[in-house]
Amino acid sequence: MVVGEFTTEIDVLVIGAGPGGYVAAIRAAQLGKSVAIVDKDEVGGVCLNRGCIPSKALITAAHQYESMHHASDIGIRAENVQVDFSKVQEWKKSVVNKLTGGVASLLKGNKIQRLKGEVLFVNENEVRVFDNYEVNRYRFEHCIIATGSRPIELKAFPYGNRVLSSTEALELQEIPKSMVVIGGGYIGIELGQTYAKFGTEVTILEGSNSILPGFEKEMSRWVERNLKKLGVTTHTEALAQSVEQTDSEATVTFTVKGEEKKVTADYVLVTVGRRPNTDELGLEAINMEMTDRGLIKVDHQCKTNVPNVYAIGDVIEGPALAHKASYEGKVAAEVIAGLPSMIDYKAIPAVVFCDPEIASVGLSETEAKDQGYEVLVGKFPYAANGRALSMNVGEGFVKIIGDKETGLVLGAQIVGPEASNLIAEVALAIEMGTTLEDITLTIHAHPTLGEIVMEAAEGALGHAIHQINK
Ligand SMILES: Cc1cc2nc3c(=O)[nH]c(=O)nc-3n(C[C@H](O)[C@H](O)[C@H](O)COP(=O)(O)OP(=O)(O)OC[C@H]3O[C@@H](n4cnc5c(N)ncnc54)[C@H](O)[C@@H]3O)c2cc1C
Repeated sequence: MVVGEFTTEIDVLVIGAGPGGYVAAIRAAQLGKSVAIVDKDEVGGVCLNRGCIPSKALITAAHQYESMHHASDIGIRAENVQVDFSKVQEWKKSVVNKLTGGVASLLKGNKIQRLKGEVLFVNENEVRVFDNYEVNRYRFEHCIIATGSRPIELKAFPYGNRVLSSTEALELQEIPKSMVVIGGGYIGIELGQTYAKFGTEVTILEGSNSILPGFEKEMSRWVERNLKKLGVTTHTEALAQSVEQTDSEATVTFTVKGEEKKVTADYVLVTVGRRPNTDELGLEAINMEMTDRGLIKVDHQCKTNVPNVYAIGDVIEGPALAHKASYEGKVAAEVIAGLPSMIDYKAIPAVVFCDPEIASVGLSETEAKDQGYEVLVGKFPYAANGRALSMNVGEGFVKIIGDKETGLVLGAQIVGPEASNLIAEVALAIEMGTTLEDITLTIHAHPTLGEIVMEAAEGALGHAIHQINK
């Protein structure tokens, strides 16, 4: 034992204060547990400090700037519009600070003990927390691991001055003249499109045959079209090979269908995925069962193979999304408190905050058919919605899928402005087990984008009013 080391007893120890961890801690405290939460960094995790929130703030700024260039379409002249990027960054930081400050107050208000430091397991009931030269031991009855993930570093593209992960790309103090984005997943597309809107010349290299793999092509096509309008060059089926960096730029060598190409830019942003933070926790000490990808194996209650240890968020299987982490956090806390909670992923929405936004929940048409459903499908365009046109945003559609036999809503895909908000109605419909008819019988205020969801459901039943039904 290190001299001065003492042990604190606690009901629930939460490791990691991201959207998984802090939500789990609060829920456990609400249920009467004594809770401590430990993080080596600020509260809020990746999502608040280096992920969801800062990226959405930059997206908003870029969108406002770019839309001013089209203001003349609706009779507004905005000339000589300038970006003060350091002011944009300051504002972004202020948003992050407000939210992380809010989380700190919530933890305090729920009487949760906050600890700073890196965690190492000693045994199934005890960890050591290292903060500089200080080491303390914590004994717990239950523990929730929520240590999240970090960007994957490619061997051929080591992070440095000119090769960035999403963290540094969010922190740039000047708008780059040019940028190569390796990886056309949601993080790469959101950031690449944001900088393109600010005027950066962007090249995207994606290995598969379409950007945003995982979303249907009929959705990503709209995004591709807008990227093109912004002057972004996209190479699909592209394999990034190597990079040469100087003080001021980087040259990426890549191949497309066997042909070698090069592109030089101020920065290279590598967004090829994320790796779980499970390698430095000393999980060997408790014989934790892991997958080949270093994820912690859990059951439908977020229980690991170690009976009193739970895992949630980016360290377990499933999409690396903040709302998934928070949801699992609540389930884990409730199970610890003896409630019969369990995970049901049927209605977890996925959103990309690109332009136009895309969002999906539940099953796609193909997935539903693959699962043996006979489907009813309704698709309604933004272009036939009064609110969309009065907002000068006519791009996109809502597609809704129902089961022909029961009428139950199975899923939806949305492309267009506010897709991120519209998807919530369909998530609720799936969660509640409602039918397409229930949506059509729900009065949607006029004129709103929400009416597009209602009309898509009416279309699936063959009686949309504002389009000809086939
Ligand atoms: C650029 C970007 C944009 C994103 N946008 C979205 C979005 O719009 N919507 C969305 O749903 N998701 C988004 N995400 C994903 C989202 O941020 C993650 O899914 C989410 O943060 C995962 O939450 P978590 O609680 O599992 O872990 P994290 O948020 O990663 O938090 C883990 C915490 O654990 C701490 N920690 C790690 N190891 C230790 C240790 N040994 N000891 C002590 N503490 C430790 C870390 O410091 C960190 O604070 C985005 C991610 C990125 C990178």
